[in-house]
Amino acid sequence: MSFASLGLHPDILNQVSELGYTTPTPIQTAAIPTVLEGRDVMAGAQTGTGKTAAFALPLLHRILHQKSIKQTDGIQILVLTPTRELAQQVHASFVKYGQNLPIKSVVAYGGASINVQLDALKQGCDVLVATPGRLLELIMKNLIDVSTLQTLVLDEADRMLDMGFIIDIQRILKKLPEIRQTLFFSATFNDDIFTLSKTLLNNPQLIEV
Ligand code: AMP
Repeated sequence: MSFASLGLHPDILNQVSELGYTTPTPIQTAAIPTVLEGRDVMAGAQTGTGKTAAFALPLLHRILHQKSIKQTDGIQILVLTPTRELAQQVHASFVKYGQNLPIKSVVAYGGASINVQLDALKQGCDVLVATPGRLLELIMKNLIDVSTLQTLVLDEADRMLDMGFIIDIQRILKKLPEIRQTLFFSATFNDDIFTLSKTLLNNPQLIEV
């Protein structure tokens, strides 16, 4: 299996090959075509499996495609992460994979200046990577517009629940467009995870690696 056979945009393939990635990992092979189709995904994946590229590469492809057919504006992708460290890592991945693409990623998390994050958002934002508390603050204070959202990614959903973010997540979900793609990643599964996933996902492709 090669990256070229997964259906990704040539500019993204170039970037992947510049980074020295020759072969997609199992989660990438399974998830990339499904995400490109626009389907929901429920994936069991640990850190280190290449899960970030499994959602970042096809989502960058979809933004590029949208931009090529019409003028798109506003936040299209929202990635929720449990910690600021993971938010920074995921944002860095979008920047790395989208280096030569006309796509902007912004990161927002608590414990840091909201004004600096707002300034970054004002420069334009296609992809917002955020922790739940700060995102909720931005939404409730009407500082961001999430009405243009097309895809929601929950990364490390199990850790988000362990850290007590369920109420924040539910409040965020009420503010997001109901018609959207949702990608759900979790390293572990229990009843709470299944309950949350059921409220979020529509006929998801199940991926276990
Ligand atoms: P992740 O599981 O998303 O934290 O990714 C783990 C590490 O694997 C990151 O440092 C990525 O840069 C790297 N990586 C992801 N996909 C590939 C690939 N197909 N080939 C080589 N390295 C990869």
